[in-house]
Amino acid sequence: MSAKIINGKKIAEELQNLLKKDVAALPSAIGLAIVQIGDDEASTIYVRNKLKAAAAVGINAVLHKFSEDVSQTKVSSLITKLNADPDVNGIIIQLPLPAHLDEETLLESIKPEKDVDGFHPLNIGRLQNGSDKALIAATPKGILYLLENCGIDLCGGNALIIGCSKIVGRPAGMLLLQKGCTVTLAHIHTKNLPELIKNADIIIAACGCPQTVKAEWVKQGAVLIDVGINRLNGKLCGDIEPAAIQKASFITPVPGGVGPMTVAMLLHNTYEAYLKQKQEKPTK
Ligand code: NAD
Repeated sequence: MSAKIINGKKIAEELQNLLKKDVAALPSAIGLAIVQIGDDEASTIYVRNKLKAAAAVGINAVLHKFSEDVSQTKVSSLITKLNADPDVNGIIIQLPLPAHLDEETLLESIKPEKDVDGFHPLNIGRLQNGSDKALIAATPKGILYLLENCGIDLCGGNALIIGCSKIVGRPAGMLLLQKGCTVTLAHIHTKNLPELIKNADIIIAACGCPQTVKAEWVKQGAVLIDVGINRLNGKLCGDIEPAAIQKASFITPVPGGVGPMTVAMLLHNTYEAYLKQKQEKPTK
């Protein structure tokens, strides 16, 4: 058996095309502010992709760029200004930040209803409570979209999440729990990973370690979502051994799987934030 490849690029394009129509039908423009500090190479690529994708769906994305040595006060005053600007519906701070900046304070200073990355504690709490007011982090939201788009039955399945970062693993676990999965969160100190993998119907591999999930451990028919972006011998690879395709029922490729969905979901969150802001009273 060979797995069905989940074409994240195509699914993201379809979602963005739908979004483009919805955005065009709105009575006013949607604004997204992207705050970038420093010249981290990967961040610059991610920001460029976000700006390009936003323009393609008709969202006005504006980049606010600071030099590496910018002060906390200066970034904070920009966030205050963006929070108050009615033309700005979404605000993201591109991570990682230089070490001298207090990431937690800056992320918490974004108005929850403009927090389209879903990193504010209020949005994290709302996600945990299953509230539809939550803005949910784009990567886990994109993963759920892929699973549902492929018609995968989640209820009652054993889901193993490998890696429990605040931006991927933990929110992904919470979303799958709400869909009726029995969720296990594994991490760097987990001792029996091969056993957990053998028992998993759905695996979300998000640990950033090349080919951590060995094909020989994968259960026949398992659904494999590979979030990892790694380089091995100069080539891009995920956290799952490619030979696992022989055991899985569905698998995401790297690249072209989860990555494009993250950008599409960020735009979707911005659209959702706009709608919520027009219909609801602000929470802060
Ligand atoms: P992180 O570094 O914040 O967290 C990594 C997690 O994996 C931690 O919980 C750690 O304990 C765990 N871990 C590390 N090594 C492990 C191992 N050998 N076995 C089990 N657990 C292990 O990472 P992150 O920001 O969540 O990113 C994870 C990976 O996903 C990276 O490769 C990153 O580039 C990628 N990523 C991709 C997208 C996308 O859109 N495709 C988005 C975010 C992150």
